[in-house]
Amino acid sequence: GLDRFEARKAVEIELGNRGLARGSKKHMMTLPRSQRSGTIVEPMISTQWFVQMKPLAAPAIQAVEDGTIQILPPEWSKTYFHWLRNIQDWCISRQLWWGHPIPAWYCEGCEHVTVSREDATACGGCGGTSIRQDDDVLDTWFSSGLWPFSTLGWPEKTVALERFYPTQDMETGYDILFFWVARMIMMGLHFMGEVPFTRVLLAGLVTDERGEKMSKVKGNVVDPLDVIYGATNEQLVEKAEKAGAKKSGIKYLKTTYPDGFAAYGADALRMTLLSYSPQSRRIALSIKRIEGYRNFANKLWNASRYALMRLDGSSTKAAQQCPQPTALANRWVLSRLYQALEVAATGLDAYRLDEASGALYHFVWDEFCDWYLELSKPALDSGDAALIEETEQTLVHVLETVLRALHPMMPHITEEIWQRVPKWDEAPKSIMVSRFPTGLVDAKLDRAAERDFEVVQAFVGSVRTIRAEHDVPRSRSMRIHWHSHDEDKHRVLDAERRTIEALGRCELCFEADPAKLDDPNAHFKNAAVFVNPAIRAAVPDVIDTEKERDRLQRNLKKVEKELGVLEKKLANPSFVERAPEAVVDKSRRDSLELRDKRERLEAALNSL
Ligand SMILES: [Zn+2]
Repeated sequence: GLDRFEARKAVEIELGNRGLARGSKKHMMTLPRSQRSGTIVEPMISTQWFVQMKPLAAPAIQAVEDGTIQILPPEWSKTYFHWLRNIQDWCISRQLWWGHPIPAWYCEGCEHVTVSREDATACGGCGGTSIRQDDDVLDTWFSSGLWPFSTLGWPEKTVALERFYPTQDMETGYDILFFWVARMIMMGLHFMGEVPFTRVLLAGLVTDERGEKMSKVKGNVVDPLDVIYGATNEQLVEKAEKAGAKKSGIKYLKTTYPDGFAAYGADALRMTLLSYSPQSRRIALSIKRIEGYRNFANKLWNASRYALMRLDGSSTKAAQQCPQPTALANRWVLSRLYQALEVAATGLDAYRLDEASGALYHFVWDEFCDWYLELSKPALDSGDAALIEETEQTLVHVLETVLRALHPMMPHITEEIWQRVPKWDEAPKSIMVSRFPTGLVDAKLDRAAERDFEVVQAFVGSVRTIRAEHDVPRSRSMRIHWHSHDEDKHRVLDAERRTIEALGRCELCFEADPAKLDDPNAHFKNAAVFVNPAIRAAVPDVIDTEKERDRLQRNLKKVEKELGVLEKKLANPSFVERAPEAVVDKSRRDSLELRDKRERLEAALNSL
């Protein structure tokens, strides 16, 4: 036939010839164009294969209604039902080069269409052998819908099919809940007679940093391999150009990732993806966040190196049972470990992988690395055989256990380290087949240790603040005079004296006369003071009068400025009358607090 553009002219002429033309005028219309070639897309009537969907949808609706299949987050069930209850017949033939061929044959001799499970050799109508298979292939989603069983050898009754169908969890993006998940359920029920899986876990869509969908044209596709192995900006740009990115996309790449990606590793990428809440519909993949988890991997690596180095030459091995230490630091870290494991286990059960990974991340970084490793140094160097032994046992137990807990989230680095950790006899050959730690089944929370250790943390924190505020070099030990009316706190500071002294680079002196600490400058030279709950302390010889005066005056200025703004606001009747009561109350409280602060700063300045 004629090309469509020529055909149109020919039709127009023919209409004129027959006296049927009614004239022409310009008008606006939407012209659909092919995304790839830019060619105008025309509708064309043709014969296609359809699947009648209502009978397939009914049992699939039933399976979610009766709880055979659970969809998480649960609000997606509504969408699922809406689609399946309003389902229309599905056109499954596609005019593509590649795909499952449609099993239909046309006959040269008659009109019969032969549809057959086996490749047909003759027409089912007239028996003629001049037959031709349909050129079309099946819609991709039709083939994908068969995935849960076609990959296991179906229609043969294979061992794999027997063993792995149905499976438990199906994890994918919410955007293909209908295209893929619903089709798998319908086809599974139809061909296999039972559901393909019992839980559907829907994650958000991974987008670029701005929250925009990744697309080749936009040039914002982040290739996981580039994140894992690293790529220069030139490499990213070259790849995007090859994929057909527009100029604006290339510009985005150049400005957003001028230095390309460092080699962050697979574990960092995995932890990053786990850290996003499953409730969020969009996961705006942040390279900064991946970098943060790469740093976490480094932190874990260095912590392990330290631990293994300290264990070198010792016969202590990780045991399957939790150690029973007596030193506060050891009791504390075990309690915190089991707390984190408990949160992780609860998170995994509830499919909150973000909460599970977050609990372990914070335990490793904030508690194990930032506190416990520091605490272990004075203990291991103490020369006290019993203390050394229980500290080694605790150190290796915490490390070995947290590696197992982290393994599903960071499989590579945990295996690498775990292989080097000295372990009990008959330990499994790989962390992959070792048991996931069972949290509180093995140990109890030690509330007393946690409470006592908070006193140590607060005290050391104050000492460090004083050191930073007054620029006392780390090499210089500070003398700290302290007193507490609280028996418990007194006991902790006394018992943990060595720990605090090591962590704070200081020397503790109990001050029997609390009055001295109320007026420190009458008794100590150039003393800074700090107050923890129920504890007072003075740190002599740290104040440089000139610097301190500057510092206090700076703070005083800041407080006066803030106070001025607040008081002006409170003096304004329209604010007091119109603002919500809670806001006005808060402003009043803040202004009182600032007045107090001003008074204290003025007193401190006067005492200099
Ligand atoms: Zn025939």
